[in-house]
Amino acid sequence: MDRESERVSSTSSTVAITRIKKPEKAEIEQGITDLLEFFGGVEGIIPVHTKRVLIKPNLMTGKPWTTGITVHPYLIEHLVIAIKKMGLNVIVGEGAGWCDDSLKAFNTTGVTEICKRLNVPLIDFKRGKSVQVPVSDSTILKNILVDEIVPECDFIVSLAKMKTHCETIVSLSLKNMKGLIAEDRERLRYHLLDVNRCLIDLNKTFKPNFSLVEGIIGLEGIGPLMPGKPKPLGILIGGKDPVAVDTVCTEIMGLNPMDIRHIRYAYEAGLGTANLDEIEIQGETIASVKPDTYQYPPQEIEGLSPFESIKIVNGNPCSNCIASLASYLHGYIDKGVIKRATHSIDILIGKRAKSRDTGKEIAIGNCLKRYRGKIPFVSGCPPPSDAYLELVERGLKGDFGVKTVNLDAEVIDVPSE
Ligand code: SF4
Repeated sequence: MDRESERVSSTSSTVAITRIKKPEKAEIEQGITDLLEFFGGVEGIIPVHTKRVLIKPNLMTGKPWTTGITVHPYLIEHLVIAIKKMGLNVIVGEGAGWCDDSLKAFNTTGVTEICKRLNVPLIDFKRGKSVQVPVSDSTILKNILVDEIVPECDFIVSLAKMKTHCETIVSLSLKNMKGLIAEDRERLRYHLLDVNRCLIDLNKTFKPNFSLVEGIIGLEGIGPLMPGKPKPLGILIGGKDPVAVDTVCTEIMGLNPMDIRHIRYAYEAGLGTANLDEIEIQGETIASVKPDTYQYPPQEIEGLSPFESIKIVNGNPCSNCIASLASYLHGYIDKGVIKRATHSIDILIGKRAKSRDTGKEIAIGNCLKRYRGKIPFVSGCPPPSDAYLELVERGLKGDFGVKTVNLDAEVIDVPSE
């Protein structure tokens, strides 16, 4: 099929997949150009009367794209150049993850340099003036708190990474929109309410007009950060329907989109289609790019611990606490300490976790501060993952005296109440 007939056949639920054999600039250039051409190029995607285009890349932390955590910066460069060529106003904006510094993420990923060179505004959504935008036909939220420039953008490109996520299972174009939220405490509220439902209101209010998911190097395992592992896939996936794009990505990752709550809710809310029969796939097929294996986070929090001697007591924690616990247990714990353990421990996590007075418990996170002075406790919201190392190590040696970890990550004795 020639390009002209491909363009004519693209529908609102068309999803294109292109392959990038080597992560080199010329290959990426070809891959993104080919993908956009299925929709008539950038000119066929963005209406000429658009006042301001927002490119929202996943730059959630200061890690390079090769880690599988942030997007390849060249995709931002390509889009900015193409949109500017159309004579349109374009900005790049993102708010880094919980307690993370967006400016550091912009610098480390090379996006600050790109935006400076191309003379395009790069906005940190966590630093500007924020506004409340009402949600119509709300699922759970009445308003969405965003930087004041976001409602002024009449075309949004969600530039997401193909990732696993310990709370939402996958993080793709719908989940990527969470970086629009202006303040950390508002992000936390999403997790405390139900992030999967909050994502529906967010995407209803600021629905991406075009979604591009970078899977040149995706992420598998316990994402969205470490201990998730880079997964080289060599693909780009894009389309105008974010639900259809996420559905195709999820299938490539070997999961059923109906098992992913936020994708199912988005489909039920009419934000797009998650029915493969209604999605026209152009370029590569799902089967031609699907890897033989893909590792996912455990469906249950209790499964986060790989060690028999460490049990998790699930109290519905938010993903920030899950991610820090996961990174600690999978990435940083000294395996020698586990081998030498003489005792087992129970880690209470999340507001609803209840002590059973087993005498071998540790509570982590501010939402369990009711246990401070009663059992070993680590403060923080989320607690820094290395801060409870010492308490865990002491517990594995059978020391469950009442202690807490202060903000300098020092273990101090707290008198019992
Ligand atoms: S302590 Fe952890 S689980 Fe509790 S609110 Fe804070 S981040 Fe969420």
